[in-house]
Amino acid sequence: MIQVAINGYGTIGKRVADAVREQPDMAVLGVAKTRPNFEAETAVGKGFPLYAAVEERADQFGEAGLEIAGPVEDLVDEADIVVDATPSGIGAKNKEMYEAYDTPALYQGGEDADLVDTSFNARSNFEDATGADHVRVVSCNTTGLSRVIAPLREAYGVEKVRATLVRRGGDPGQTSRGPINDILPNPVTIPSHHGPDVETIFDDLDIDTLGMKVPATLMHMHSLNVTLEEDVDASEVRDLFAEESRLFLIPERMDIDGSGKLKEYALDAGRPRGDIWENCIWEESISTVGDDLYLFQGIHQESDVVPENVDAIRAVLGEADAEESIATTNETMGIGL
Ligand code: NAD
Repeated sequence: MIQVAINGYGTIGKRVADAVREQPDMAVLGVAKTRPNFEAETAVGKGFPLYAAVEERADQFGEAGLEIAGPVEDLVDEADIVVDATPSGIGAKNKEMYEAYDTPALYQGGEDADLVDTSFNARSNFEDATGADHVRVVSCNTTGLSRVIAPLREAYGVEKVRATLVRRGGDPGQTSRGPINDILPNPVTIPSHHGPDVETIFDDLDIDTLGMKVPATLMHMHSLNVTLEEDVDASEVRDLFAEESRLFLIPERMDIDGSGKLKEYALDAGRPRGDIWENCIWEESISTVGDDLYLFQGIHQESDVVPENVDAIRAVLGEADAEESIATTNETMGIGL
């Protein structure tokens, strides 16, 4: 059993903990939190040993009636691997601690690419993480783009990717985020940082991205144009994507017109937290004009990176190859709408 520590139990960390617990070859050794909020209470309710991430605040847990198993250092020391799911920039500060205990670490997309040995997307570069000490599971948007680009590169070759990312202002729990009533070019500079981030997965890719932020919390939406190295029929691309386990092609018959209905569908399907781990590509949007491919896809920012973290654990520890790991993760989590 791979003993997994999760440092940072928020939007991403709590989902990774649940997914790890589903795996036949992994166990959650414990989760570390900074303060005894509602997520700390649910962690205890789920039976995850709770560790204090910040020594000076450890007493707060006892005062809130929550038992602490020890300081985060103990958790890191005993674990085979740590998943750092702390807010952007905190992972970089934690690196020294992981090195001190000689525990390999996964970081999330909010950290800089140069913090780690390699960036990771299971479908695109699984093997690059094997034996690495520090690996970054790329952001929700980069994960979503990589999953589409990898099969296109293999089947037809990709000359150029142009993507416009219409981004949710904040996650549903992020009450301080916005905009509330606006449409922001964000970042206003072009290209946005997302393109260079995708290049951490495919170093010879030509990609430009533009970002916007809108008053929404449910999902991101990508408008994608990929210039392929050959003329391709849209039906061929649909068949290619249908073979990809983490791409969900939304059929026209479902009458799903946006992220609201997608989330409703996920909830109706009994998905935990209404999570959608797959890219959601509107099948009718897949169009080609010569060698240019166009499509729209929805990306559930809170959950698409979760199976990627599970696969990255196996990749780093050399416990499975990409195909085996992805198949196990998909089956245990119930991926495939
Ligand atoms: P979050 O704020 O929801 O959760 C972070 C958790 O870490 C919180 O519980 C916070 O209290 C805790 N924390 C803060 N400082 C800590 C410390 N020193 N030690 C341990 N825990 C600490 O954040 P999130 O949305 O889960 O993001 C985590 C990472 O995942 C970031 O790098 C982010 O960029 C990335 N990411 C987020 C999303 C998303 O949409 N939410 C998607 C993909 C990747």
